[in-house]
Amino acid sequence: MNKQRDLKQQYKHQLTLRRKYGYSGLLIFIISIASLALIPEPIVKPWFFVVLAVGIVGFIVGLFGINYWSRCPACNKIPRQSNGAIPITPMSKCPHCGVSLNDD
Ligand SMILES: [Zn+2]
Repeated sequence: MNKQRDLKQQYKHQLTLRRKYGYSGLLIFIISIASLALIPEPIVKPWFFVVLAVGIVGFIVGLFGINYWSRCPACNKIPRQSNGAIPITPMSKCPHCGVSLNDD
């Protein structure tokens, strides 16, 4: 019973990290790519590669973060929806090992 609660807390903690870093990473990526797309001839600007690098780092951190922090703490697999997507909302149950992940 105690282990169950620990798993839920760990999962909750992971999702907080995912929200903080994973989604902000993707947001940074979108903002930097969008700003490069909106500026005419961005490649001649001296800050082009800086913005591009920030965007790529944001993308990598976002992608890895979302994968990493979505894992089920019990079986270490990523719980996915039936269509293969990683759910944005917390999963109530891990589809791999059946452990309960969320009380709601
Ligand atoms: Zn699991």
